[in-house]
Amino acid sequence: MKLYQGNILTTPALGELTAIERGIIAVDEEGVIAGVYETIPQQYRDLEITDFGDQLIIPGFCDLHLHSSQAPIQGLGHDEDGTWFTKYCYPIEKKYDDLPYAHKINRDLIENLYKHGILHANIMTTTNYASLMDLFEQYVNSGLCATIGKMNSDYPAFGTANEDTKTSIKETREFIKETKGKSPRVQPCLAPEFVPALSSEVMSFLGEFAKEEQLKVHSHMCEGDFDNEMVAKRFRKEKLYGRVYERFGLFGDTPTVMAHCITITPEEIDLMAKKGVFLAHCANSILNSPSDRELLAIRRFIDAGVPVGLASDSGGSFTLSMLETMRSAIFISKQVKGYKAFSALEVFYLATKSGGAFFEKTGAIEPGYFFDALIVDDKRLCRFEEVSYTLQERLTRFVYCGEAQDITHRYVHGQKLCLKSEFPV
Ligand SMILES: [Zn+2]
Repeated sequence: MKLYQGNILTTPALGELTAIERGIIAVDEEGVIAGVYETIPQQYRDLEITDFGDQLIIPGFCDLHLHSSQAPIQGLGHDEDGTWFTKYCYPIEKKYDDLPYAHKINRDLIENLYKHGILHANIMTTTNYASLMDLFEQYVNSGLCATIGKMNSDYPAFGTANEDTKTSIKETREFIKETKGKSPRVQPCLAPEFVPALSSEVMSFLGEFAKEEQLKVHSHMCEGDFDNEMVAKRFRKEKLYGRVYERFGLFGDTPTVMAHCITITPEEIDLMAKKGVFLAHCANSILNSPSDRELLAIRRFIDAGVPVGLASDSGGSFTLSMLETMRSAIFISKQVKGYKAFSALEVFYLATKSGGAFFEKTGAIEPGYFFDALIVDDKRLCRFEEVSYTLQERLTRFVYCGEAQDITHRYVHGQKLCLKSEFPV
């Protein structure tokens, strides 16, 4: 058993906070939290304590949707209308076919996620197999946790298809065979790009394969009117995105994340709730999309019972920072009339325990959860000694004013990560 002491802050439910001043966390040999205490329990009196002093101990962040190949286009294409996919997204994804370059991009991604305290990430790669395997291997070596999926994209959504159907199916099978069960921290999943870029044959295969191998599913839906129209035109019977995914067994038959869901219907929101499909709320991407404001009411999903997490999306936004994503989620919610805006505590919950439910027992400092935690030194934010803050105010200040540099240590499954020494370049 290992003991840790510090100011513990965790959100057990939306809008709720547990704050323990100089509390104690007991972590077992498997890296799982055995107990959280206000004072040291009698049976642990003789054990050594790792003491973080006045620092905060918070759960690690979980990013529910991002693309491994898109870092070089962050911030680009948002001043122009309708050219993002063809001018920026597809060319940079194609460049990822070059393995030495992809190796560099993959390493850069892992370093950035580490820096921003994103201990769990749900990642979609491209159609390229070698670069996908490189990311998987580098991730296993990093000590961070992720679900990683090969992107399927065999239907010409915009001009030409990114791969052929046969290769798409063959390489998906191969990837799962090569990686499933290989690492306790990194799992393979299925990552079809989105309905307009998928043949019916590939969707049928993926739905059956997900059930057969019990694989998680990660995709996009309802990014705007453009893709809704493409879906309705091709699938005249189902008409709705959610109904198409459902028909092919890709909508919650196994744990599923759908990114964006902006131009979504109430019927599809109810279907997400019924099937337990997660919404990956890409707050910074949404800020860049020309959408009607009422469509940005994420509270609609929560009220309906849809599990919601936050996501950076990478290229569709401008940063991997979860702190910035949390702030954007707050600011967007304040622009939407008719719905209560998000509080700092609420977005913190979405970035930790709520999104964490997609992965495993992570995102909370609670017994039974992995000790996946960030240690935060917020003295920069508390530098005026004349002003005192409660622990809740310190967490709120960190959400609004914090930066990656305030994170001093990262723990995954009870082990302290140190990317530089443990992670070969
Ligand atoms: Zn995306």
